[in-house]
Amino acid sequence: MIGSPEASLAESADLRHGVVVRAYGKFFDVVLDDGTALLCTPKGTLKRERKKTDLIAVGDEVMVAPLDDGEGQIEVVLPRRSVLSRLARHTTDTEQVILANPDQVLFIFSVRDPEPHVRMLDRFLVLAEIRHLPARIGVTKMDLDAPLSADQPSLAHALFGVYEAVYPVHYLSVRTGEGINDLREALAGTITAVAGPSGVGKSSLLNALDPSEHREVGEISAATGKGRHTTIATQLRPLAEYPGTFLADTPGMRALSLRGIPSDEVDECFPELRPYLGTCFYSDCTHLHEPKCTVLAALEEGAIPRERYESYAAMRRGESLD
Ligand code: GDP
Repeated sequence: MIGSPEASLAESADLRHGVVVRAYGKFFDVVLDDGTALLCTPKGTLKRERKKTDLIAVGDEVMVAPLDDGEGQIEVVLPRRSVLSRLARHTTDTEQVILANPDQVLFIFSVRDPEPHVRMLDRFLVLAEIRHLPARIGVTKMDLDAPLSADQPSLAHALFGVYEAVYPVHYLSVRTGEGINDLREALAGTITAVAGPSGVGKSSLLNALDPSEHREVGEISAATGKGRHTTIATQLRPLAEYPGTFLADTPGMRALSLRGIPSDEVDECFPELRPYLGTCFYSDCTHLHEPKCTVLAALEEGAIPRERYESYAAMRRGESLD
């Protein structure tokens, strides 16, 4: 920001820099760099300048002219660094932005209650990879972890250990505090989209990460009067004491589909397969059945985990993993 045209604009016009944390119709909650929250509306001419994509989305960096009574007017929307959107199916479709400026994605599954659906995790990971978003995995309710067998002392590690070679895996419990501080450090200074099935302890985790601002766990939202499961809008929570750190609860992420991802790009979305791509006998090898396929050879040697390969094969065949 410093030295940028936006920064000089801010000085000359007394504009303040902030991040949109909530959107409702034409109103937006913006958190300024000093932590102040303002209820904002966009200036009229913004609409004409930005029509192809959502005018203003949660996560957008904006320049705001503060008004009286905790209100403000959004004067400028800064260029997006990245965007998490529904992939447009037709070139004429308007892009539907779920979150602007995500730096990374955190996928949450619990070790138990509910049982983790790791094939759904694989699908989430592909959705992140196709968008070039770094992914992390959070395994919650570690206080419920139990031995799987005599030689497998942890169900969580048996299920999620396979991901540790390619993604950061955080083993977490809000009951014991396990992993919470390390995760908070890993999120510092970023906008992180958080997604996972309901009941895995996502709200509890967000509250543990930011004890300063509590919201209901497993209850009805007082603000909207609707059950939390019906809420699909993205919201950003600033992490107090960590400037520039925001957690985005992105219920809309669950609805994203693999449709629109070309089947011959699915292999690139599995980091374990990447070292072998381009080395098969056939240049258009699907890695499903072809002779002299280096991916299948690596699978046989145990260099690629079988569970992950099975997810790849299902997606490549176009099977739904929902
Ligand atoms: P969400 O639907 O993903 O937001 O999940 P909630 O945060 O509402 O939690 C669902 C249930 O899991 C609640 O009953 C929580 O008390 C429970 N829960 C959340 N975190 C933990 C944890 O670390 N350990 C245990 N044992 N239970 C947890």
